[in-house]
Amino acid sequence: MVEVDPAVCVLCGLCVGVCPPDAMRLTPTQLEVLPNCTECGWCVPYCPVGAIHGGRPIRGRTRRPEPA
Ligand code: SF4
Ligand code: SF4
Repeated sequence: MVEVDPAVCVLCGLCVGVCPPDAMRLTPTQLEVLPNCTECGWCVPYCPVGAIHGGRPIRGRTRRPEPA
C-alpha cells in the first residue's frame, strides 16, 4: 500500500475520488489507505501537499494532472 504522512495530510479528500479501486477513505481525523490498494500510484500527484508516498511511478506523468 502507499503511505500517507498524517503530519502532512490536510484531509482535503482530493485523493479519495481519483483512486481506481476506491481504496482511500477519509475520516474526520485521518486518511486511510485500505488493503485493496494496488499501489498503482495514481493518487500520488493529485495530493496538493505531497503527503502520499510510494506506489509505482507512472510513465509519462511528470506533473500534476488537471482535476477531472
Ligand atoms: S496507489 Fe492506486 S490503488 Fe493505492 S490508494 Fe493510490 S490510487 Fe488507490
Ligand atoms: S490529497 Fe493529500 S492532503 Fe488531501 S486527503 Fe489525500 S493525502 Fe491528504
